[in-house]
This record gives sequence, structure tokens and C-alpha cells, in this order.
Amino acid sequence: MIEFRSVTKTYPDGTHAVDDFSLVVPAHTTTVLVGSSGSGKTTLLRMINRMVEPTSGTIEIDGESIAERDPVRLRRSIGYVLQNGGLLPHHRVVDNVATVLRLEGTPKQQARDRAMEVLDVVGLDRSLATRYPSQLSGGQQQRVGVARALAADPNILLMDEPFGAVDPIVRAELQTETLRLQQELHKTVVFVTHDIDEAFLLGDQVVILETGAQVAQIGSPSEIIENPASEFVASFIGTERGARALRTKETGHGTVLVDATGRTQGRLVGDDDEGTA
Ligand code: ADP
Ligand code: MG
Repeated sequence: MIEFRSVTKTYPDGTHAVDDFSLVVPAHTTTVLVGSSGSGKTTLLRMINRMVEPTSGTIEIDGESIAERDPVRLRRSIGYVLQNGGLLPHHRVVDNVATVLRLEGTPKQQARDRAMEVLDVVGLDRSLATRYPSQLSGGQQQRVGVARALAADPNILLMDEPFGAVDPIVRAELQTETLRLQQELHKTVVFVTHDIDEAFLLGDQVVILETGAQVAQIGSPSEIIENPASEFVASFIGTERGARALRTKETGHGTVLVDATGRTQGRLVGDDDEGTA
């Protein structure tokens, strides 16, 4: 479990990126932070692995303040996936995936063996292992980014708009893949996006943010859709936008999201999954 307690971040230039933010991120589930550009999402994420230090307040992992932890070791114990993949261009795929293992001192061959296994986990063919990132499609690069984040088997996975730079079809594939992975791995995932549909598809818990990381609403997708807390939330989730108006529908296989035309927009995770709480 990750807990933010009254966390504030003011950057040296005076920008109030995060103002008195509190949140509990339950273990083994996916929490999605969703908000417009500049609402403070990346700042929140980077405070979890101490790439950014809070101005005030505390962040705890399993009840222990991360301020007491060694920042480098903390960072290596948490998987982090970036929008552009963040891959090292002059390293082959296998070595990109093995990066954290090598930093931790895992012998080269053992690290590579593990990297190959993780390629299987994220659905990448092992034949891609010897390529350089520039020889992969955008979607493949993102999978390598996810593989790298998972290689050291962290309990926590941070994902910052990981599918923002790929086309809609690949994006949908990667979203489905993320759902599948999470059903297998049950990581504590904090996923950042500005796309509310992606948030509802992937989140067990969705946190809608306004400027300064002000929490507009926290809830499961169905709670938010069925009962938006404010005009801001209603307009953000598009319930006022006619054709896109989303509602939930029960099916034999769990809850799905449908739009006003009855077209399925996504599946709500968590409902049929005894591993989450
Ligand atoms: P988001 O990820 O939601 O787009 P960010 O956390 O990146 O939001 O940014 C929140 C606010 O903090 C924005 O106003 C942004 O311009 C500002 N900000 C982000 N990083 C820095 C920085 N290193 N120095 C100064 N201001 C920053
Ligand atoms: Mg951001």
C-alpha cells in the first residue's frame, strides 16, 4: 500500500504543482490518476520513487516513510514506465530490459536469461532481443519499456502516460495487454493518463485531478460514472457530451462500459477478480 499524507510540492520557481494531496493506493490493484496536462500527475508519480522530493507532507509505502529509504535503492525497487519508453538507444533490447538487474549486480548471463523471460511475459518475440530500440515499432518499444520495468519483479509499477505516443489501434492493444498482465501479476500499479476512457478501462480506483492535484473525485469507474461528484467531473467524463455519455451495464461476465448508442467502450476491471480489494 502507498499512502500520500498532505503532500505539497512547490517547485523552486514558485509553481504550486501539488497542494495538500492525500490518497491511499491499495496494494495489488491499479489506481489511475487522470487529469488535464499540468494538473500535477507526473509530479505525484515521481514523488513515489523520490525523483521529486515533496515540499511538505509524507509518502509511506507499507507504513514506512520513503524519506527514510535510500533513494537509489528505492528507485530500483519500483518499476517505472515512461511515455516515450525511455529506452537506451545504444543498448540492444535484451540489455535495456536487463538494466536494473545489472545495476543490482546480477551477473550478465543471468540478467539476460531473466530479460528473455520478461519479453515472453509482455508478449514480445524473443527474436527482437538483439535489436536496437530504433528498429522497433512504437508499440514494441512500449512493451520493452514495460518489460524493463518488470524485470526486477518490483511490487510497485508506476506508468506515466505510457501509451500516449502510439496510434489508437496499438494503444488499444497495449491497454488490453496491461489488463491481462495485471490479472497475472497483481502489482500495485499507479497509472497516469489524461484519457478518461483509458482511466475507466484500467483503473480499479480512479482519481480525477484538477490543477494543483486537487482531487475532484475518487472512486471505482462505476461509482464515478453513476454519481459524478461535481459539474467538473461530469464534464470531464463526458456525461454531458451526448453520444459519448457512458454508463455501466451488467453482463454475465462482469460490468462493461457502454456509450449512449449501446456500444461497448470497455470492461470494468476488479468486478470479477477475487485478487483485488
Ligand atoms: P502533469 O503530469 O499532470 O502534466 P506535472 O506534474 O508535470 O503535471 O506539472 C504540474 C505543474 O508543475 C505544471 O504547472 C508544470 O508546469 C509544473 N512543473 C513540472 N515540473 C516542473 C519543474 N521541474 N519546475 C517547475 N515547474 C514544474
Ligand atoms: Mg505528466
